[in-house]
Amino acid sequence: MRVTAEIKAGTEGLSRQTRYKVIRFRMGRCINCDQPRDPSPTSPSPYKRLCVTCGTSKKKKKRKERGSKPWKPGSPGRPPLKSQIETRTK
Ligand SMILES: [Zn+2]
Repeated sequence: MRVTAEIKAGTEGLSRQTRYKVIRFRMGRCINCDQPRDPSPTSPSPYKRLCVTCGTSKKKKKRKERGSKPWKPGSPGRPPLKSQIETRTK
């Protein structure tokens, strides 16, 4: 897909790296690796700006940094986004 003036609009004052991220997001691609964010409409990425691979690896890294454990049913906090999507489609 070609980068048009519409996609580039409003990115003039941003840094080079941030401009790439904005353009990739507007083109429906992962801002990290430039792969299609939602490869198929039946399995959309639960992450807003990342593909499933990048989002999962980022989640695992942050979980390790913070010492958090994965969510379990009955524990406090919100359920993970992936299970919300699964229940939404059912
Ligand atoms: Zn990615």
